[in-house]
Amino acid sequence: MSTKQRTLTEPFKIKMVEPLRVTTEEERTRIIKEAGYNTFLVHSDDVFIDLLTDSGTGAMSDHQWAGIMLGDESYAGSNSWLRLERVVKELTGMPHILPTHQGRAAERILYSILGGVGKIFISNTHFDTTRANIEYTGATAIDVLPESSLHTEEDLPFKGNIDLEHTEALIRENGPDNIGAIILTVTNNSAGGQPVSMENALALREMCDKYGLLMVIDGCRIAENSYFVKHREKGYENKTYKEIAQQMLNLGDAFVMSAKKDGLVNIGGLLTLKNDDLAMKCRNLLIISEGFTTYGGLAGRDMEALSIGLEEVFDADYLTYRIRSTGYLGEHLRNKGVPVVWPIGGHAVYIDAGKLYPNIPVHEFPGQALVCDLYLKGGIRCVEVGSVMFGKKDAAGNLIPAANELVRLAIPRRVYTQSHIDYVLDVFDDILEMRGQTRGYKIAYEPPFLRHFTARFEKLG
Ligand SMILES: *Cc1c(COP(=O)(O)O)cnc(C)c1O
Repeated sequence: MSTKQRTLTEPFKIKMVEPLRVTTEEERTRIIKEAGYNTFLVHSDDVFIDLLTDSGTGAMSDHQWAGIMLGDESYAGSNSWLRLERVVKELTGMPHILPTHQGRAAERILYSILGGVGKIFISNTHFDTTRANIEYTGATAIDVLPESSLHTEEDLPFKGNIDLEHTEALIRENGPDNIGAIILTVTNNSAGGQPVSMENALALREMCDKYGLLMVIDGCRIAENSYFVKHREKGYENKTYKEIAQQMLNLGDAFVMSAKKDGLVNIGGLLTLKNDDLAMKCRNLLIISEGFTTYGGLAGRDMEALSIGLEEVFDADYLTYRIRSTGYLGEHLRNKGVPVVWPIGGHAVYIDAGKLYPNIPVHEFPGQALVCDLYLKGGIRCVEVGSVMFGKKDAAGNLIPAANELVRLAIPRRVYTQSHIDYVLDVFDDILEMRGQTRGYKIAYEPPFLRHFTARFEKLG
């Protein structure tokens, strides 16, 4: 990492503004209480800095907005589709390109064909919607992250990698015929946005060839991953970010993308394939649920903006700013003494709330306490990724906690400036003064599934 700390100047200027409402702590105390201490239930107008997710929350460029006006809304064979198809073919090297309205639509189509009772899917980490779409078909989804990735403070370059030995053992144990696909999630979202090395992807390709298996790349942050490959992996220093992405995507048999991330658009998705027969089956399902094969649930203007976004995202100035600005928040938090998952990934900073608030017992949700404190002190919205989200219950109804009590600060693309991030850092000074607190929250209401979205809490003590 560079020792010289220069101002992180955004490589863009502002042409249109979206005002932010400044609230007082008194107002926020009332608002968060009314929302049952759940930030998913707070209105966006009442949020000052929104770090809930990086999905679909980015800002489009003037070129993309100009592209919106050029959108060709013809039902079949529109110019906007032809342009998108050209851009994505060039990026992936794959012959079959299917547009979808989101990443999960591409997943549903692909995994409903590859899945089914008895099938096993193996991944470095299945994203929630990936797992849900696989399990919905009756198949099983198994995560195989290397053991070293589970240590939140160990400084390793590619903590998002798939564990190859474990993968091979699972293939042998279950028999290659029962494996639906091997899925490489790039970067590894659920494992802290950590990157995957080209070496790991190449080795996985070889293994898939050896056993005749399909390799799927879930690559919605492929540009961010390329940044890490160029700067951390030997032999890629002189390649462009786009060349690195092209090389990695071409290793796969299929590519699934939520365009709401590195597509730099607010909605959209892609499914691309090499195999003709599989592509035909996927197209048939696409028509049933998404739309005709040349729009797949997207407006012409959405496809126009996406084809421009997929080119802008590989711009060296943009990617440097993107990865450095996430790193800026993470490094400064660490310097202040806030325990963060290390090294910092591409799209988010993860805070270890269990370590930050050591006196709040796990069953009083230290992560939820931090989420609420950040909203109360600064109007900052983020999400708990700990026992509220992943905790289970034993037969007696007692909490079986998650592995870690994390809180995620996700950074929308091209939305906030360094001064917004400096403001977030300032709010953490107040948070650090509250380190000694001993009481957290209890759940007052929870739905049967995915409770973090709609649960309501009560403040204890
Ligand atoms: C966001 C995401 C998805 C799902 O995409 P949507 O566009 O939200 O449906 C799938 N995989 C990964 C890794 C993601 O981050």
